Amino acid sequence: MIWDLSTSGCFNFKSTWDFFRRRRDENLLYNRLWINNFPRKISFFVWQLISNLLLKTKGLQLASKCLRGCLSEESAFHIFWECTLANSIWDIVFQLIGCQKISCNSIEDLLTFWLNKAHHSKSGCIYSHLLFFTCWSIWKARNNLRFRNDWEEVNKILSNINHLTFLQNATFPYQAWQLHNNPDLIMHFKVPPMMTQASSFLVSWTKPEFGRIKLNTVGFFVDGRAFGGGIARDHDGNFIFAFHYEFGVNDPLSADLYACLFGLNRCLTKGLTPIHIELQNYTIVNWLSHNRDIGWNFINPILKIRNLIGQLNANISFVWKEANGVAVFFSKIKCTSQVFDNVEDIPEEATILISEDMAGKRYGRRI
Ligand SMILES: [Zn+2]
Repeated sequence: MIWDLSTSGCFNFKSTWDFFRRRRDENLLYNRLWINNFPRKISFFVWQLISNLLLKTKGLQLASKCLRGCLSEESAFHIFWECTLANSIWDIVFQLIGCQKISCNSIEDLLTFWLNKAHHSKSGCIYSHLLFFTCWSIWKARNNLRFRNDWEEVNKILSNINHLTFLQNATFPYQAWQLHNNPDLIMHFKVPPMMTQASSFLVSWTKPEFGRIKLNTVGFFVDGRAFGGGIARDHDGNFIFAFHYEFGVNDPLSADLYACLFGLNRCLTKGLTPIHIELQNYTIVNWLSHNRDIGWNFINPILKIRNLIGQLNANISFVWKEANGVAVFFSKIKCTSQVFDNVEDIPEEATILISEDMAGKRYGRRI
């Protein structure tokens, strides 16, 4: 390919970026942000990113350290490219579009390169979408960590990118030109069948099949402490047991895993079987359902859970957090570790949530 913006005929960032900048009236980079049939809020976010407005409050750039423990200053370039987390994500996203990862010195480098890849078609092709969804998901993860102390791993962020691409395709199915005539590309964005709705929809807790016990669990990680909560209910939605427990682990994913493990062990002790486990952590559901890509430090609890799944004749599925409200409630209650075996002992609020679930109450879910 000859790159006709530079004297050497080879692609380089500076020539491309200068080219975009020269054409102030029709600045291609800015123009490419506003894509038809694409979430405006995400385009607006990328506009803020390239306008260097994301980390500013009232015009002031706030200097702080990266929360991922890199000891680097938290600049936009660091968050979106330099940080180990961002880097691992780009490794995979570059692979997805069948492209060697480039080296970047600025956000402009990244966006210019990427949008140039997309340019061979038109704006609105899946490459632009992927770029935007990736930046957006990295930014969301950064904010979840900064403001909610919610530590998202690479897998979580990738599944968010997957999910957004999946929804985009569900709402506005990709045309061949948008996929760069590579229909297989869309196969990468497989998400559970229940995630087929548009940007806002209703979800509810559902009763398990007759004779099966449903176990909902979830971890809760706050101030460096890991808690877990869960509830087991029969096929009519009646309370069997619930728990709130603190685990000596130090990351949110382990909290989710140990909550599940605790609930299953409790089922085993009480002789409850068969079980249907519902988890809101998609990564874990994936690990338990397929035998691949398990983070090495999670293998031990995963193997224990698998063993219990066999013993308890259990199956497993994903649940939206909105439909997992009772488990979330127990994960967060302020008490020392406790198992509740009588419905009379549980907090009033939990009783209400349980009866709402029994009645099939639906909860709004927004992307
Ligand atoms: Zn960092």
